[in-house]
Amino acid sequence: MSAAEVLEKLRRLSEKGVRWLEVHFTDLSGRLRAFTVPLHEIDEKAIERGLGQLDGSSVEGFTTIAESDLVVKPDFSTLVEQLPWNPKKARVIADIYLSMGRGRFNRDPRYIAQRTVEYLAEQGYRAYFGPEVEFMLLDSLTIDVFTPAAGISYSVSSRESPLESSQYFQMFKKAYHTPTPIDQLASIREEIAEVLEDYFGFTVEAAHHEVAATGQIEIDFRFGELVETADRVITLKYVARNIAAKYGMVATFMPKPISGDNGNGMHTHVSLWDKDGKKNLFYDPNDEYAEVSQTARYFIGGLIEHGRALAALVAPTTNSYRRLVPGFEAPIYLVWSKANRSAAIRIPVYYKGEEKAKRIEFRPPDPSCNPYLAFAAIVLAGLDGIKKKIDPGDPVDKDVYHMSPEEKRQLGIKELPRNLEEALDELESDHEFLKPVFDKDVIETYIELKREEAKTEKLYPNPIEVYMYAWI
Ligand code: GLU
Ligand code: MG
Ligand code: MG
Repeated sequence: MSAAEVLEKLRRLSEKGVRWLEVHFTDLSGRLRAFTVPLHEIDEKAIERGLGQLDGSSVEGFTTIAESDLVVKPDFSTLVEQLPWNPKKARVIADIYLSMGRGRFNRDPRYIAQRTVEYLAEQGYRAYFGPEVEFMLLDSLTIDVFTPAAGISYSVSSRESPLESSQYFQMFKKAYHTPTPIDQLASIREEIAEVLEDYFGFTVEAAHHEVAATGQIEIDFRFGELVETADRVITLKYVARNIAAKYGMVATFMPKPISGDNGNGMHTHVSLWDKDGKKNLFYDPNDEYAEVSQTARYFIGGLIEHGRALAALVAPTTNSYRRLVPGFEAPIYLVWSKANRSAAIRIPVYYKGEEKAKRIEFRPPDPSCNPYLAFAAIVLAGLDGIKKKIDPGDPVDKDVYHMSPEEKRQLGIKELPRNLEEALDELESDHEFLKPVFDKDVIETYIELKREEAKTEKLYPNPIEVYMYAWI
């Protein structure tokens, strides 16, 4: 869109009563950041050079105090004309630039994603992504960490709590695909899906109650290229939170808010195509196992080889590792398979002979990741596998949860890291594969800020420790 076209569009919007532009970007951890400017401030200069608005030193992982001025340039191809909860506002996602016309800012996660797309094209590829975003819709979530007398506590409440004791739940064990009226979130879930389609240009493919009985839902949308798909993940989180707020509820995407039930994952489906998007390079109709090509096998080899370091980017919070434990459909073992849900990498095999649908499903990610960085890292690990022809080993179709340690050793099965620190140690020693796109200082800053989180988490006794040890 040319500057003149953007101005014309904004003029028409202001005639419809839109006054504000809400500008979005993410910090290095993936938290959404937003500010608002009146439409009358968007002139040709602002469109071409960006808005001089940002103090980078106040954004996690961005700049130091000494180099704090950053420029925010809206990408008007992402413009959403009106927000349903505030028709006076439009929304746009932005790219971050250095000051004084010095070009792109290398720690802007969206820029890293854009560079990955360029790198893919240089190698003759195009990649598609389809994440399955899971989250919980709760009636309340309260935390008390800092009141000394309260110690450390949190509580969640869900209108669905009776589900846990209901006959229905006991009969079927889990809340997966429960119908109304047992599923009490259907209409809110559908409202989120409708807003995503009607206002934000998504094509929603499915929305359902997930396994966890306490308000867990999943919304799946049509796959797309890297940057647009990461844009959609941050948009889905934003929309879910705003619709939840309308009902006085809270949407949480933390990977494991409730112990003893399933956590929130973000399984990510990936396929690799030739540059023009004509041929799916993961598809081979002659492969008897899962119609999956040698290129896909090498890509999987890369994911397994770098899987432990990748964890630091796709499962990047201390809480992520409470999800990656046995018994809750979350992966632990870096093996691949077709239908085996204990494997970190799965080849969905619903239909035969469908080139378009052939993809791999990478299951370690969760929605606490920065999707721009996570998708970039996934594809770079896979490309490294292709470049080095890394053999992923034979598929493992047995339930790995129930294998003996001896059997796992014999098969050379690697496990995901057990905690964030372990994942960061891995990333520290294995990040060569990210180098085509991630600058050294980005990786260092990322590790530093995540180490800080791990350190903070260690400083606090947690509720179960108090339960186990108060009277020891
Ligand atoms: N909630 C599970 C996870 O944490 C995934 C369940 C599913 O297979 O969709 O990965
Ligand atoms: Mg799911
Ligand atoms: Mg899945």
